[in-house]
Amino acid sequence: MTDDNRWNLATTQIPGAWFNVLPRLEEQLLPPLHPATKEPVTPDDLAPLFPEELIIQEMTPDPWVDIPGPVIDVLRLWRPTPLVRARRLEEAIGTPARIYYKDESVSPAGSHKPNTAVPQAYYNKAAGTRRLATETGAGQWGSALAFACSLFDIECKVYMVRASYRQKPYRRVMMEVWGGQVEPSPVDDPEHPGSLGTAISDAVRDAGSRPDSHYSLGSVLNHVLLHQTVIGLEAKAQLEMAGERLPDVVIGACGGGSNLGGIALPFVEDKEVRLLAVEPSSCPTLTEGRYEYDFGDTAGLTPLLSMYTLGHDFVPPSIHAGGLRYHGDAPIISHLVRNGRMQAVAYPQGKTFEAAIQFARVQGTIPAPETSHAIRAVIDEALEAKEEDSERVILFDYSGHGLLDLSAYEDYMAGRLAGS
Ligand SMILES: *Cc1c(COP(=O)(O)O)cnc(C)c1O
Repeated sequence: MTDDNRWNLATTQIPGAWFNVLPRLEEQLLPPLHPATKEPVTPDDLAPLFPEELIIQEMTPDPWVDIPGPVIDVLRLWRPTPLVRARRLEEAIGTPARIYYKDESVSPAGSHKPNTAVPQAYYNKAAGTRRLATETGAGQWGSALAFACSLFDIECKVYMVRASYRQKPYRRVMMEVWGGQVEPSPVDDPEHPGSLGTAISDAVRDAGSRPDSHYSLGSVLNHVLLHQTVIGLEAKAQLEMAGERLPDVVIGACGGGSNLGGIALPFVEDKEVRLLAVEPSSCPTLTEGRYEYDFGDTAGLTPLLSMYTLGHDFVPPSIHAGGLRYHGDAPIISHLVRNGRMQAVAYPQGKTFEAAIQFARVQGTIPAPETSHAIRAVIDEALEAKEEDSERVILFDYSGHGLLDLSAYEDYMAGRLAGS
């Protein structure tokens, strides 16, 4: 053990391949079904929406998938990200637990999302796609994709949930700085506040109707979680540098499951490591949803995915953690929860802001409201370790910073925030 509190890898130590969990699952994942025929989708069904390489990655049995050189070149702008030990938080709690986090907030867009935006833009460019259409909630994903598209010189059209479009101008401005074109969703009902489900419908309709365009999704799908595994692979190497063996528990906020999958999947085969998903109690997909086939969007245009879901027409209340307001969850994450390999817990919004402020006042950085869900669970783990007087190694994903979410903090501090 060292008394250091930050472990960096050299830029040459960015992983050379992504970790594919699919061939390592004890039971096979149920395949996505065609929305009309209810038969398993074929690569041809997906071809209007995605380039071939991404369709292959969605289904590949290869245990590792090489990361193309031009993708690594871009990831080098901010990767490898630091592994940080939250010593001041440990001291404030008075816990014998050791708390480590992977700081994904250092990316240009301020979250983990560019880890998949960059390869998605790259594979589309390589396949000749001239334009990508996507959806965004609060703007985290839209800004990540606009950034990636600008580097690979493709157009980016973002359908943004109308409520966020009106209330959160700064991420829209980020998207526009990177050359993205932003439109509020749903496009056909200017009075509707929108949801991720309506915005996905708009983006899929757009991409499906234009030969020059493909669709891009920022979470949920297998290839997205695959791209995010750089987080967990780097973290494993950095924990070793820190003198740790394996963590006792790996924690991540779960919206569609991509940052959680990214940090947790490389630990799936380490059976003694507990994996924990954290979600809002107002959108309790894993803790209260049903495990069944459902559409990924509101209009029912996407394939049916086998997942925990609150129903594709569920419109979650407008909590500030916009990235966690999705009715479904990644089939991979749902499968792990279903089989007991991963646990899930839900917290009301107020408890997560309380944790975020406790964190900010000792560690300094201000977390995204999504990330605050993970931090709430981390603090509770650390308190439990204190109670039991047990050393416990906690690893979590610091999925993003909250510097564009300050109005949410203002509401919380002014007592204007709905509890759930
Ligand atoms: C989008 C987002 C999330 C939730 O999405 P996942 O796909 O579940 O990772 C969490 N944290 C931040 C900062 C986000 O931007």
